[in-house]
Amino acid sequence: MLTETRLREAIVWVCRRLERKGLVAASDGNVSCRLCEECILITPSGRAKSELVPLDLLVTDLDGNVLRGRGKPSTEIRMHLLVYEKRPDVQAVVHAHPPLLTALSLAGKAFPAAALPEVWAILGPVPTAGYATPGTDEVPRSISPFVERHDAILLERHGVLTAAENLKKAYYLVEKMEHAAATFFYARLLSGAPLQSLPPEALQALKKHAAT
Ligand SMILES: [Zn+2]
Repeated sequence: MLTETRLREAIVWVCRRLERKGLVAASDGNVSCRLCEECILITPSGRAKSELVPLDLLVTDLDGNVLRGRGKPSTEIRMHLLVYEKRPDVQAVVHAHPPLLTALSLAGKAFPAAALPEVWAILGPVPTAGYATPGTDEVPRSISPFVERHDAILLERHGVLTAAENLKKAYYLVEKMEHAAATFFYARLLSGAPLQSLPPEALQALKKHAAT
């Protein structure tokens, strides 16, 4: 387990990279990680991700009460806490608003993970949680059916949520998904036809490969 100082630095690294890669704008998005058995570190509400420094992050308990730090935790803290409650294996959670991933759900389309081998091998199917008012308890309720079986969930009209064993992995899932969404977009522009999934035997072979 990294020290608190290293975890604070890692969250700031994720926040700056999210902003630099255009995966959030201004105060969009939120990032957290487990800090101890009964507490997490999370980004504050209403602050531009590119301007955060390690001391800006808040420590809360697993009910969302602030134990250390100034200001309020992210308005989406309930979504993060639900992931930690349901997934003991998860150490870090990232929520971002990548434009192409969000455009997919605005266009009423699912994330076609089965179209690209390396996306399928890492993520398998990616569900879309139904629309929920941001910052309310509707958001954790909307993701609840999917959290236990999926590391990435599209939020209808509201970006993406990823969960992983460390902060970098959770961040790179977002980056990889947005890159895939760009590829889907170009393929659709070039062909004009709906994307084709890989055939079942090819998907099965990827599953075997990923398990070794
Ligand atoms: Zn959001």
